[in-house]
Amino acid sequence: MLQFLSLPALTGGTLLQTPATPAPVQHLLLDSRRADAQAGGVFFALRGAQHDGHRYLAEVYQRGVRLFVVDQPDGLPALPGAGVLLVPDSLAALQAVAAAHRRRFRLPVFGITGSNGKTIVKEWLAQLLSPDELVCKSPRSYNSQVGVPLSVWELNASHTLGIFEAGISEPGEMARLARVVQPTLGLFTTLGTAHDAGFTSHEQKVAEKMQLFTEVDMLFYCRDQELVHAAAQQLPKAVRTFCWSRFHPYEANVAVTLLESAADRTTVRLAMQRPLLQEHTFTLPFADEPSVENALHCLTVLLWQQVPAAEIQRRLDRLQPVAMRLEMKQALNDCYVLDDTYNNDLAGLTLALDMLARQPRRGRRTLILSDVLESGLAADELYGRVARQLATHGVERLVGIGPEISAHQRVFGSAEQEFYPDTEAFLAGFQADDFHHETILVKGARRYGFERIVAAFQQKIHGTVLEVNLDALVHNLNYYRQRLAATTKLMVMVKAFAYGSGSYEVANLLQFHRADYLAVAYTDEGVDLREHGISLPIMVMNPSPDSFQKLRQYHLEPEIYSFERLHEYLRAAREQPLPAIHLKLDTGMRRLGFGEEDLDELCQVLQANAAALRVASALTHLAGADEAQHNDFSQRQLAAFQRMTPRLEAALGYSILKHALNSAGIIRFPEAHFDMVRLGIGLYGVEATGQQPDALRPVSTLRTTISQIKTLPAGETVGYGRRGQATNYDRRIATLAIGYADGYDRRFGNGVGEVLVRGQRAPLIGNVCMDMCMVDVTGVVGAQAGEAAVLFGEGLPLTELATRIGTIPYELLTNVSERVKRVFVTE
Ligand SMILES: *Cc1c(COP(=O)(O)O)cnc(C)c1O
Repeated sequence: MLQFLSLPALTGGTLLQTPATPAPVQHLLLDSRRADAQAGGVFFALRGAQHDGHRYLAEVYQRGVRLFVVDQPDGLPALPGAGVLLVPDSLAALQAVAAAHRRRFRLPVFGITGSNGKTIVKEWLAQLLSPDELVCKSPRSYNSQVGVPLSVWELNASHTLGIFEAGISEPGEMARLARVVQPTLGLFTTLGTAHDAGFTSHEQKVAEKMQLFTEVDMLFYCRDQELVHAAAQQLPKAVRTFCWSRFHPYEANVAVTLLESAADRTTVRLAMQRPLLQEHTFTLPFADEPSVENALHCLTVLLWQQVPAAEIQRRLDRLQPVAMRLEMKQALNDCYVLDDTYNNDLAGLTLALDMLARQPRRGRRTLILSDVLESGLAADELYGRVARQLATHGVERLVGIGPEISAHQRVFGSAEQEFYPDTEAFLAGFQADDFHHETILVKGARRYGFERIVAAFQQKIHGTVLEVNLDALVHNLNYYRQRLAATTKLMVMVKAFAYGSGSYEVANLLQFHRADYLAVAYTDEGVDLREHGISLPIMVMNPSPDSFQKLRQYHLEPEIYSFERLHEYLRAAREQPLPAIHLKLDTGMRRLGFGEEDLDELCQVLQANAAALRVASALTHLAGADEAQHNDFSQRQLAAFQRMTPRLEAALGYSILKHALNSAGIIRFPEAHFDMVRLGIGLYGVEATGQQPDALRPVSTLRTTISQIKTLPAGETVGYGRRGQATNYDRRIATLAIGYADGYDRRFGNGVGEVLVRGQRAPLIGNVCMDMCMVDVTGVVGAQAGEAAVLFGEGLPLTELATRIGTIPYELLTNVSERVKRVFVTE
């Protein structure tokens, strides 16, 4: 086991403080919010574009962590009794520690890279080899500068094979990852266009990725990718290669012929010389091109390992598509289910529990867990660790399924618990009423078939959903953050149900990512957030006077925009102290707020009541922030704001936060960010200025199902008022389970709107009805009832749809009815 005292030599660091007790390094901790006291936990203070771990040292110490690695000696808090190591670069130190851990094990290790398919090839390779091997692999897509060391840290003496993926976004990164992974085998998946931005050319990108393979014994790749093939020839002589090809059969070790492609499977013939010609035919349980290609990479490895062909086919038959995302699904009895039924190893369990702990609190946290496989640990040790994880992640109820977990029930201590020998036994006794208003993580190894459990929870919960991609939301948040100075605060508008996206889920994510303020329109919205555990400061833009006591009770800060409201608030505040206020200044919107002419009086009132009332901020709102034609007007508004705020501050005798800009303003007036900005629509994926159309990721996808498909003979009509007609030729008409009562705008009817079916556009035909609408799918080959149709989302942007019906994206988003279920997904 590595000792903390050996880290200076490994990392080129110096000990600032020696730990009070000798300390083996057992856990690598990076996230201050998840750093709990575990013996041997070392917190690495990393610095990134958004976060600086050094700011949280005291907080982490409070949680009981006693070993620290820092690269910034100034301003360290007192950490009595702790070990503190100062290194030149905390990230490099993390990688050096993982590399030293890796050196302790002699075993074959695959390094996998490429532009696409890394995670799927890694998962499949692990599935296909695991009958023979005890595999340690990267959890999910842990392939970054930080993810790779954490993955490699999971290696232990019982593993017989490592499979790690490595991803890069700029030159210089791969050599660092190679030193951590120390692969003995390499696999290059596919070269695509992802992350082109960081590289000057495709050649440079391939050359950089090849850095992973300079010391492997064998590299697997596809001969048909010319750039990859050329780069493989440049590797040191000691690196042997083993490649497959469809188009250069005589230049590859394995020649592939596609024999047949059906709807859901593909038959391939693989021929190789070894040393005599051998030919095998395999059926892959997929038809799409990327899956076939990913499977061929894996097949090549299995052939090289001389797994018998019949056995390969048996394993292929069990190959499962890889769930790339953890999905949060609304389920019966007001429950939410976090669906992670794909695999269940220890590292994956930790990630899933982190996700569970990050969800807004809705009732208790429940875990349905199968036996944990492939840990390489003795069962006592393993379930002891699982039990500790459950405790630190606040799991209150455990349903254990499987013989091993059942045999170890005594280690789970206080959580409410029940155990079943297998999934069938659980389902046989399943009563919907046993689960109420709880968040349930369903986490099971594949062989347990836990998707049946998720299905049981989801009965009758399908149809129309609004899918909210939380990763896209975070991407957009960071996009705007990067435009702010480090000292500029960020207020995020979560009014109107977070622009339709689901207020507490979004608020919770913003709290996790340390936004500074939230804003809602009405007091009740703020109360709702507080009741779901949101503790960030919240501004309420339009609180009614009868809600002032609620403001106090829930610590919500009102916006005050008129003398009338100000006096009402003061009257209440003199009786009982009330939260600080935000002053709305009207500089040209002419909606709400104090004008410049009101300022003398306002200053007087504030001064006279200084003891009863604190002002937190002053704000104004631009009338035309998104359009250049209003630039002069916007500048006049900003100038007025800058004349007014110093007068307020002088009268108050203290400084207040000053903020003026919405999403569009943040982009267009970087000189006017002041102390804080107010992010709204941009977070939800709409770039309102149109200047950076590709910078944001779409967050929301509105999706429904096709209820029925009919043929409409030429000349006949469909729907109310007989407005939709099959002119000239027969049509295939799909009826969708969404209408204007779900918030799908009636103006989209009769060809104005389009939806996506199988990724292709299909126009509306006839009027939009209350609960349904019809689309013409004549051009969409193979469309069937039961399939999904996308009303907006990737490939069907809100901005385009809004333009078609003469409105703005804001209206489309906020109109989605609350009866439409929200499903939250993350990658
Ligand atoms: C809604 C709102 C915002 C956010 O506007 P976006 O255009 O959605 O970024 C900012 N400030 C105020 C006062 C708002 O009401």
